[in-house]
Parts: sequence; structure tokens; C-alpha cells
Amino acid sequence: MHLCDRNEIQNLLARHGFRFAKSLGQNFLIEAWVPRDIAAACGADEGCGVLEIGPGIGPLTDELCKLAGKVASVELDQRLYPVLAETMAGHDNFTLIPGDVMKLDLAKTVAEQFPGLRVKVCANLPYNITTPVLTKLVESRLFESLTVLIQKEVAERICAAPGTAEYGAFSLLMQYYTEPKLCFTVPNTCFMPAPKVTSAVIHCPVREKPPVDVPSEAAFWRAVRGGFALRRKTLVNSLQTAYQLPKERLTEIVTACGLDPAVRGERLGLAEYASLTWALWRAEEGNG
Ligand code: SAM
Repeated sequence: MHLCDRNEIQNLLARHGFRFAKSLGQNFLIEAWVPRDIAAACGADEGCGVLEIGPGIGPLTDELCKLAGKVASVELDQRLYPVLAETMAGHDNFTLIPGDVMKLDLAKTVAEQFPGLRVKVCANLPYNITTPVLTKLVESRLFESLTVLIQKEVAERICAAPGTAEYGAFSLLMQYYTEPKLCFTVPNTCFMPAPKVTSAVIHCPVREKPPVDVPSEAAFWRAVRGGFALRRKTLVNSLQTAYQLPKERLTEIVTACGLDPAVRGERLGLAEYASLTWALWRAEEGNG
């Protein structure tokens, strides 16, 4: 069966009485080059396990099963289970994990599904959970890389450099844990039903160790949250939302880090937030 042939998909879904659910971000791929190129960008091989999120009827799953040692796919929509039983029947390295990825115990799943394998994530993500699911995946520190098809606008945000319009706290979070790269864009005509926006694939190899040295990750994320709290305000004003220190003291700290006190939080990269974290931590804790 050709899982990207529009007529075959329509026949398959009609036989199973399936209708698309917008609330589940169901935009299925209908151009064969897209799942093929996503699976290639993921770089899976026989020594890899791949966790897929939202297999749908399985076009990407099918490509991943050809490359990886094992593929386990988490699908929330029960109506797709009998469809997947049919479309994945030829792959003995495939397992369906029924349920919601946001409620899944990732550590337990990885231990059970992929013993002895390096583990990657690959998915055409439901657009409505892109940010929380990527956050959960990187924070788990369980995966070697993430390769995902998402809205182009979000892909650009994840890869953005400090000081650009697209840059934000989420860029910094993804760049702290991974080294994201935009691989290619995917026009809306490659999906059924077609979404309004263009999509893009990003490949994010997970860093082996954090890119910056900080007193603690909690202290680092507190500085980042403080720095981004008030967009279009100065860093000093924004930091006041997260720290009890007087404005004059915050101005001194920012200046001592080599930063202009009028700078905005969204101009700072990982290294600048790390040095700011140390300075704030020392000032607050008396750790001078
Ligand atoms: N992989 C298929 C493809 O490329 O054609 C389908 C991708 S579609 C964008 C997203 C899939 O994620 C749908 O199958 C949807 O039912 C599933 N899904 C939505 N929310 C989910 C969740 N919280 N946990 C697991 N799967 C979910």
C-alpha cells in the first residue's frame, strides 16, 4: 500500500470510517518524498530505536522501520489503532504505544522499548502540542537527537539568533539542550487536510553536556525567565519581575557583566545569560 497516495488514503480511511480531528492536529502527509526525507534527516540506523509521536496511518513510521532497529510510536487517537494494525503489518520492528505523549513516562518507555539501542525522536508533530512536547523531550535528556516536522514559524523561532525578531525564551531553551538546524521546508500542499501555513523540518542533535557553566539550572532558568518577562523593556526592568534586588543593584550587576544597562533581554545569548546568572546568584546569596 502507498501510504502517501491520496486515493489509497481516502479508501483506507473510508473503510475504517475515519474523519480528521482538528483538535488532534491531524494533518497527514500525502507526498512520499516528505516522510522519506524526514527519516533520512533523522539519521536512524540498525543500532537505533526511534520514538515516533503521532504515527497517524504510518507514512513516516514505514520509512523509519526500514532504517531503524526498532520503532515505537505513541498515538492518542484510538480510531487509528486498527488502521495501523493493517498498514504496519509488514514490519516486525514496530510497536504501537497507545496514549497521550504528554502523559507518557518517557524514561520507563525508553527502558522497556529500546534496551541496548541509542534512542532518537522523529515525528510529524501535532501542531497544538509542539512547544510542550519538545520541552518535555529535551528536558528528559533521554534522546540522542530530535527530528521533527513543525510549523515553519516555530522552526525559525527554535533556530533564531539573539536580537532577531524570532528569538525568545523557547529558542534559548532548545539551544541550551540541542544544536537545532533547519533542514528543509514543506509546503502546505503536502498534507491532507492542508494546513494554512508552511511547515519545516528541524534536526536537533542533543548536546552531550550543557553549553555553559551555571551555578544551577534552576538559577539559570530563573535569570532567563526574568530577562524575557517584559519584552521591549530594558533587561534591568524585566529582571525586577524575578528578583527582589533594588533597581540600582540590578543595574550594577548588568554593567559588571559587560552589558549596557539599557539592553533588552532578548538580545542576550546563552553565554550572556550564564554570566548574568552567576552575578545574580552571587549578589543574592552573598556568594561573592
Ligand atoms: N505521522 C502522520 C503523518 O505524518 O501523516 C500523522 C501526523 S499528524 C500531524 C499528528 C498525529 O499525532 C495524529 O495522528 C494525531 O492523532 C496524533 N496525536 C495528537 N495529539 C497526540 C498526543 N497528545 N499524543 C500522541 N499522539 C497525538
